[in-house]
Amino acid sequence: MTPTAAPAPPAPPRAQLIHIETDRRLGHEWDEWDGKPLPNRGDFSAPARLFFGYAALTLAVALGAFAAVLFLLQPRLATFHPLVPRVLWLTLGGAGVVAWAWLAVLAVSFYTGASLLPERLLERGPFLWLMNVTSFVSRAFGRRDWVEHAAIDIYNTLAERRRRRVGKGELLVLIPRCLSKGALDGVLAIAGRYDVPVFVATRGQLARRVIRERRPRAVVAVACERDMMTGLRDVAGKLPVLGLTMRLPNGPCRDAELDLDRMDVWVRGLVGA
Ligand code: SF4
Repeated sequence: MTPTAAPAPPAPPRAQLIHIETDRRLGHEWDEWDGKPLPNRGDFSAPARLFFGYAALTLAVALGAFAAVLFLLQPRLATFHPLVPRVLWLTLGGAGVVAWAWLAVLAVSFYTGASLLPERLLERGPFLWLMNVTSFVSRAFGRRDWVEHAAIDIYNTLAERRRRRVGKGELLVLIPRCLSKGALDGVLAIAGRYDVPVFVATRGQLARRVIRERRPRAVVAVACERDMMTGLRDVAGKLPVLGLTMRLPNGPCRDAELDLDRMDVWVRGLVGA
């Protein structure tokens, strides 16, 4: 009698994908791309100090701009009441002190591992504004993607330390349409392992609609630095988000790769598996 073959082990769970497109349509953030390979094969990793340097420059520029406007308007403002310019100078000075003190607290929180302020006053508060304004300043020096990468790393580090936990049905994984096949398979395997839904958001607007309709309590989002900045700006203030940036070895909006181990750690940590 011939022995019966052992039944094949069950395939690992794989999350169902909602929708994906594989063509290269540039996201509007990449409109000005000239078709040349991206520096370092689209890996914009950068140390946190790069962001802190540009953030300090941004604060200096913003305060300097307000001071210049106030200086120019001073004679006119004095015609309303002689005390008006003085009050405005004091207000600007006070705002400057608060802004620099806050930046120092941010840096100490990041480098020491002690979150010195609640999230609404740190990574999910003024930081979202500062990272976007700093991005604009860094564009003038051609360092946009690196500065954004460093800012997103700082945001993630601070957000991860809050050790948030949600139920499986309360977490959403949002991915862009530009992942390579290997990256996409990896994401679906992770999502299947922890039983969380994955949505492909072809545009930021769609991502926001998915969030509105599904009402998750936390999101793990994947995007390039440029798209992630606007996503965090629009969503992270309302909802806890962890943002995983990608490498773009074949240029923007196609064959993107990502750190699957990091995604696994994040999803596992959030659903407490
Ligand atoms: S996330 Fe992907 S598709 Fe969207 S703009 Fe960035 S590179 Fe392009």
